[in-house]
Amino acid sequence: MSPLYLRCVVCGRQQADGILSRSSWGHVSLSDGKNASACPECKDKHSDWEQRAQSSSSTGGETSYQSA
Ligand SMILES: [Zn+2]
Repeated sequence: MSPLYLRCVVCGRQQADGILSRSSWGHVSLSDGKNASACPECKDKHSDWEQRAQSSSSTGGETSYQSA
């Protein structure tokens, strides 16, 4: 079995999936059925990380999150 990695949708950091990392990271199910995760730092710093994950998933880009 190949090891699973959590990947932060905000900063791109990767960490091996495990009980400890899984509980400290943030997790969200995206509208397209995929899952996204955020590292503890980004989860703390960006309270809107779930929205970022949703918008980056639907557009495939990172810069589309704007409040005009
Ligand atoms: Zn991060």
